[in-house]
Amino acid sequence: MTRTRLAPSPTGAQHLGNARTHLIAFWASRQAGDELVFRIDNLDSPRVKSWAIEQAVEDLRWLGIQWDGEPILQTDHQRHYQQVLEFFTETSGNLAYPCYCSRKDIADAQSAPHESEFRGEGVIYPRTCSGYRPGDTIRNEAHCWRLRAADETLSFDDAVLGRQSCNPARELGDFPIATKNNQVTYQLAVVVDDFCQEVDFVIRGKDLVASTFRQLDLYRHLDRPAPRYAHVPLVLGTDGHRLAKRHGDTRLSYYREQGVAPEAVVGWAAHSLGMIDKPEPCKASELIDQFDWSKLPAEDTVVDTERLFSDD
Ligand code: GLU
Repeated sequence: MTRTRLAPSPTGAQHLGNARTHLIAFWASRQAGDELVFRIDNLDSPRVKSWAIEQAVEDLRWLGIQWDGEPILQTDHQRHYQQVLEFFTETSGNLAYPCYCSRKDIADAQSAPHESEFRGEGVIYPRTCSGYRPGDTIRNEAHCWRLRAADETLSFDDAVLGRQSCNPARELGDFPIATKNNQVTYQLAVVVDDFCQEVDFVIRGKDLVASTFRQLDLYRHLDRPAPRYAHVPLVLGTDGHRLAKRHGDTRLSYYREQGVAPEAVVGWAAHSLGMIDKPEPCKASELIDQFDWSKLPAEDTVVDTERLFSDD
């Protein structure tokens, strides 16, 4: 049986954009008769807010999303992370290397820093430290572990975007898999998480397409099959940027406090995904049959958040 997952990050409140992604995962999995598990992506410890864990669960319940089993925490996988990290930094010999560069070192290393073509992915690491080997203690300084990104085209067939291809070495660069304290990064953690939870269909925002190529690279080294992917459109403010505080309050908890009905949020989401003709209030569980991957727009959705759930 196929298994997909809800994976909110409790680094802040869940907003309208997160709500829509979670609803898509709910509708798609229920319609297909797939399993839907819940994981809280709480690894990013300095940024995780303790209140946000419970709130995410409450927000999803409020929306009428149902899942299978109890929510689990990413930090429950700590032991597995360390085993996999050891593989990259010790057993495998040369797949990852210790990198001593600060952000400033990276920016200063080239007169014209090479930016990734992928939006938001920043400067491609100039491989200053790539000659170092695991075990080399170069300086008495903190370092991260970087994976040597594959210098070949990796491809996958996305359920929304179609065929996607990228040469990770050229287009993204070597990337960190663990921080100086041997804390694994998101890229490695999510591969281990989905493997441990036997997730074979990943539904998530389109902003993670570049990360998918890094994760495909990791799956290959681990000799594990990668899941299928659906990268769904994002919700943007009228300025074309991802929802943020300046667009007004779009936290689900805020709507709840304001007396907005969850059905209004669900109806808006369903309408924006081509599932219903008008953005009329609906229960999430009543729209399962209407979900249709082929109707999902590939483009992001721009919303005027000020007017969204007002009565006029
Ligand atoms: N926790 C991430 C988020 O809320 C999703 C990570 C993933 O899907 O791999 O955006």
